[in-house]
Amino acid sequence: MCEVTSHSDPSGYADPGRPDFCARCGGPLRVEPRGGRDRPICPVCGWVYYARNALGAAVAVEGSEGILLVQRAHDPFQGQWMLPAGYVEYGEFAEECAVREAREETGYDVELTGLWGLYFGTDDPRNVSHLAVYGARIVGGEPSAGDDAIALAFFPRDGLPDQLAFQGHRRALADWQREPSRPAAPPVGDPKRL
Ligand SMILES: [Zn+2]
Repeated sequence: MCEVTSHSDPSGYADPGRPDFCARCGGPLRVEPRGGRDRPICPVCGWVYYARNALGAAVAVEGSEGILLVQRAHDPFQGQWMLPAGYVEYGEFAEECAVREAREETGYDVELTGLWGLYFGTDDPRNVSHLAVYGARIVGGEPSAGDDAIALAFFPRDGLPDQLAFQGHRRALADWQREPSRPAAPPVGDPKRL
């Protein structure tokens, strides 16, 4: 056993949320093997910290002029471009998040056409994460950059911006360049209505 001294996960990636103290009783944590990995564990109350990948959701809106991107208003990667996207809130499902983020960042109301893919990325300093990318079409609203975005624009396949934020977004856009209008799994719908 040893005291917790690092905010690196055993995977080798940074984990800024890795705790030094117990979230339940406040006591200092120790690192012990549990379930195949070394994890921060509270020797007093038994609480175990399980690091988790974050989940983001994005929309891929294809128009006649290309694909819709937004320019980031804040760090990390301020000023770089990305698909309209954000982190899925606790208790929110990814499709709901994708529609919400599109509205907040672009002003457009969108309808999802299907799941493009799930892209892992490790270059967000806040979290390693998966990004669920959904095909989407505009069904209303007016273009208006908001929330985390300072600008929005459509970009053609051969003219994407040089600076694209986040590995997951770059991988999704590379797939789009190779295969625009690629087949997608249909949306599953709102689980709260089933
Ligand atoms: Zn505890």
